Amino acid sequence: MVEQQIASRSVSDPRILSAMRDVPRHLFIPPPHDQAAYEDCPLPIGNGQTISQPFIVALMTKLLKTRPTDHVLEIGAGCGYQAAVLSVLVRQVTTIERIPAVAELARKNLATLHYDNVEVIDGDGTLGYPLYAPYNGIIITASAPKTPTPLIDQLVENGRLVAPVGSRDLQELVVITKQGEYVTREYHGGVRFVPLIGEHGWGA
Ligand code: SAH
Repeated sequence: MVEQQIASRSVSDPRILSAMRDVPRHLFIPPPHDQAAYEDCPLPIGNGQTISQPFIVALMTKLLKTRPTDHVLEIGAGCGYQAAVLSVLVRQVTTIERIPAVAELARKNLATLHYDNVEVIDGDGTLGYPLYAPYNGIIITASAPKTPTPLIDQLVENGRLVAPVGSRDLQELVVITKQGEYVTREYHGGVRFVPLIGEHGWGA
């Protein structure tokens, strides 16, 4: 997976490649789709949700530009795989999930594999998680109509937010960097994610 789908494309950071070699993706995906864990595609994880294609996990991780001392907030825990990859690279990961059964899947996967620096929170991630704010980086792994303002408020100065932003079905990967009252935006190509549902996302 790492050689053919990631290192051969635009992600070459050895720390990210090593993290993705180490995290056992097949142990995060419920059967029967765990059989296809190392294929170049997103997969169902139950409750109508999906785990992203491995390359997209790597690309979003790269775009966050993490440092080992960072605290990263993820919106959309899913099965916990993206959070596990990030947890190898940073000090602390907080991840929010709106579907309780999915949050439980993430919690079980992360605890079983001892990714102990990840905390899974139940709730609407479009509101962020003010308790631990500000965050060095924020990653949204569901499609947003626009970037939720509470999340920008919870970023450190020069912090980065990576998110798929666009319509419910088709989005562009956006990197937002916070600079005082302003933000700058970079665009990194088309993607397709399940919807971000919540107060600053799509309606249910
Ligand atoms: N990062 C995950 C995949 C995420 S799929 C992984 O590695 O497996 C997107 C997830 O976002 C789904 O589980 C969905 O329930 C969740 N989600 C959608 N809207 C949300 C919201 N407002 N807050 C938190 N989670 C949300």
